[in-house]
Amino acid sequence: MTLAFDNSYARLPERFFARQAPTPVPAPALIAVNNALAARLGLDATALTTPEAVAVWAGNTLPKDATPIAQAYAGHQFGGWVPALGDGRAVLLGEVVAPDGARFDLQLKGAGPTQWSRRGDGRAWLGPVLREYVVSEAMAALGIPTTRALAAVTTGDPVIREARALPGAVLVRIASSHIRVGTFQYFVARGDVEALQILTDHVIARHYPQAKGPLDLLREVVAAQARLIARWMSVGFIHGVMNTDNMAISGETIDYGPCAFLDAYHPQKVFSSIDQNGRYAYGAQPQIAAWNLAQFATCLLPLMGEREAAIEAATEAVQGFAQTFEAEWLARFGAKIGIALPKPGDSALIETLLSRMAVLGVDFTRAFHGLATGAARDEFSDPEAFDLWAADWRARLKSEADPLAVMTRTNPARIPRNHRIEQMIAAAVAGDHAPFARLNAALAKPFETRPEWDDLATAPAPDERVARTFCGT
Ligand code: AMP
Ligand code: MG
Repeated sequence: MTLAFDNSYARLPERFFARQAPTPVPAPALIAVNNALAARLGLDATALTTPEAVAVWAGNTLPKDATPIAQAYAGHQFGGWVPALGDGRAVLLGEVVAPDGARFDLQLKGAGPTQWSRRGDGRAWLGPVLREYVVSEAMAALGIPTTRALAAVTTGDPVIREARALPGAVLVRIASSHIRVGTFQYFVARGDVEALQILTDHVIARHYPQAKGPLDLLREVVAAQARLIARWMSVGFIHGVMNTDNMAISGETIDYGPCAFLDAYHPQKVFSSIDQNGRYAYGAQPQIAAWNLAQFATCLLPLMGEREAAIEAATEAVQGFAQTFEAEWLARFGAKIGIALPKPGDSALIETLLSRMAVLGVDFTRAFHGLATGAARDEFSDPEAFDLWAADWRARLKSEADPLAVMTRTNPARIPRNHRIEQMIAAAVAGDHAPFARLNAALAKPFETRPEWDDLATAPAPDERVARTFCGT
């Protein structure tokens, strides 16, 4: 296996990271390699499954030209400031450059302790590794910017979680970079303006080459995040832990810890066991993203010249979030009800549907998917609530050219349902990886209806319902 590394982050000053090799494990075994993603990177998928490759994924051997590092960052966790977080269980092997020139971080998550592990063991267990693999790949198939999963291995070394010994695993994660809002915060908190400038230049060159300076960069990141969060909302995704260290500057979804998808729609829905005040509830995500972006804006102020003018410009840039978010939200939800180019007045129609769904606890994915198939009405315990709305909706669709086509390509039949994820993990822990493979196959084609995957499109039965998700570190 040859990986064409070009490690631009590791060429930044030493205080940006800690040089840290992965810690070897006793018995690496391959769980999966992502053939489609390998092709995207210009890699030969069969070469990624050899014992030599598996030893690389497990952290037992370093590929040629890798420069393994743990990245430094800080962050606000649930609003509380943590000055030094850093990669506590991830090692960045380097950056691979695809044939089209696109650059990707290649990171091992669960690769052993680093100087930022604090009380953690630096490891991951099989459950969260498979959960991130399935959900991040499902997001990619839904067209949502995200980190991705190239491979997963088990280590042969048990990991202890809540007094249970569980199989240890490593996720091979791909990202356009792992630079976060928290990376900027780390240097600003240290008063290191020189590092802040270097990081800003690096990010502009790497992600936003069109940006002419920090203010432009801020505007780009605000817009990328606004579009991202609107897309999350449009598939019922709840990230669950939107700390500033989990917000990527690239605009990709990162950190699939306690994330979950809505079954029954409710704007205040929370799954994460540690989110007791609903800070990261489904409907709170836009406000929280804007709060995180305000932290990012604050970081850039030292580079933006005279302070008062800088504050004014940065504030205006962050306030731009609302406009981009609302436009993207309207475009996405408009398409969900069959409107190709929605007008601002259409949001009332969408909001009415959503509020009826919230009152009746209607399944989000099934209701929207059912609009094109005629099955939506059956999802409402009070079908009249649907009929009242549908009269206005049908009237509005009269002026649309091909609403069925718009809805069919917008509303997935299948999302990674929480209960299916939990069942998949339970099977994998018992040694059966078939449900994992099947979920991946079915979620790679989310807009196709196929009878053999119908069970993956149903809402959870009462005894299958997942009430809580866990960070699962
Ligand atoms: P997360 O909630 O996954 O974003 O993680 C927050 C911080 O905790 C990051 O700095 C992680 O690297 C660190 N961390 C999470 N799990 C572990 C672990 N098992 N061992 C060491 N550090 C960890
Ligand atoms: Mg994180």
